[in-house]
Amino acid sequence: MKRVGAHVSTAGGVENAPLHAAAVGAKAFALFTKNQRQWRSPKLTTTSIDAFQQNCSDGGFKPEQILPHDSYLINLGSPDPDKLQRAREAFIDEMQRVEELGLRLLNFHPGSHLKEITEEKCLELIAASINISLNATKGVTAVIENTAGQGTNLGNRFEQLAFLIDRIEDRSRVGVCLDTCHLFASGYDLQSTEAAELTFSEFDRIVGLQYLRGMHLNDAMQPLGSRVDRHACIGKGTIGMNVFSYIMNNPVCEEIPLILETPDSDGWSAEISLLYSLGR
Ligand SMILES: [Zn+2]
Ligand SMILES: [Zn+2]
Repeated sequence: MKRVGAHVSTAGGVENAPLHAAAVGAKAFALFTKNQRQWRSPKLTTTSIDAFQQNCSDGGFKPEQILPHDSYLINLGSPDPDKLQRAREAFIDEMQRVEELGLRLLNFHPGSHLKEITEEKCLELIAASINISLNATKGVTAVIENTAGQGTNLGNRFEQLAFLIDRIEDRSRVGVCLDTCHLFASGYDLQSTEAAELTFSEFDRIVGLQYLRGMHLNDAMQPLGSRVDRHACIGKGTIGMNVFSYIMNNPVCEEIPLILETPDSDGWSAEISLLYSLGR
């Protein structure tokens, strides 16, 4: 079965996320387990954790279909040693929150070199950050998201994702989340079925489809290779529908979270139905 969902709000507490997901007909969801724009957040309470787990089980959401996203403040490849230390501590805290909720995945953007260190040095720091975080936690997989390559963000080329995975000590706990908007913005064509097929086979050749733990389904506002991270609603952007049809009929995408991060949350229910209608 395909598991389409959306990155839902946690207004009122994390326990509300599965309720918001169920309300739009989602079979998977993403969430922030803390305020994504602040370094510190209060610890999750037992009441909140219990309610979250109850609501997930009522909604039929299994841990592998829930894809928490870390805070935007964290740069695991920061060139500044103090900021790097702070980022690593915050990332371990995010992983622990995921563990406390009984979940298995944590989705994050690799990091940025900020023009202060080389790409390779930055990737080495990111890989070390992932190893440190995996050693400090149990049972949570670090799910690296491909990026649009905007600014000095790394992780936009498959070679960079492979470079990171190569350096992870416990490869059973590292995975990838492919974002269709980011793929397209960083120059991987998805407009025709053939182009989508080629992009997936490139990913398989360089990284390996066995690492795919989830996808973000977004159309793009900007043309192929723009390196601009602007999401559009499904079918309303520059990518078009072919790739979504390809994904909805691809066995590789079975049972993994397929998450909308499209700009209009009022349209999620219709977008989810539209995506399901593409499956043959
Ligand atoms: Zn992301
Ligand atoms: Zn994304």
